[in-house]
Amino acid sequence: MNPPSLDKLRILHYPSPILSRAAEPVEDFDDTLRALATRMLALMREAKGVGLAAPQVGVGIRLFVCNPTGEEGGDMVCVNPRFTELTGTAEEEEGCLSIPGVTVSIRRATSAVLERRDLEGHVMTQRATDLVARIWQHEADHLDGRLIIDQMSTADEIANRRAIKQLREQYQAGK
Ligand code: ZN
Repeated sequence: MNPPSLDKLRILHYPSPILSRAAEPVEDFDDTLRALATRMLALMREAKGVGLAAPQVGVGIRLFVCNPTGEEGGDMVCVNPRFTELTGTAEEEEGCLSIPGVTVSIRRATSAVLERRDLEGHVMTQRATDLVARIWQHEADHLDGRLIIDQMSTADEIANRRAIKQLREQYQAGK
């Protein structure tokens, strides 16, 4: 992994191409990885988000951070995550730190079992439901280059048309 200088990391907006690319598995569980996770947690907190995936800060590796409660001690770092079980479905509105001003109704599993590695490389398995399960699925989608706007209904497309157009214009303007 060769990330840009950590100080320079920022949350990239749609349509940055890296957001649509599948990320690579993490192989080295080193200080660079730990520093990246720390920086991503800070950026997530600053943006008042509940989750952030590495491609969103321009690093194409399979890592995401989340904190569903926003409380201290609630931070979670997931490396090379994969679901071993997804059950139930529910549709809820979601936003994304990389697509400000856009909300999309997304159908997701209501219960998930996630296998991941921690920053030391240890495998851990955890079950979650509802909001936490939803955040995991949203962030895991980022690692496959899948965004909430890839799953819009016609109604969502119409409702978000202006915001998406603005994001494209800002990107073109080199913002
Ligand atoms: Zn997102």
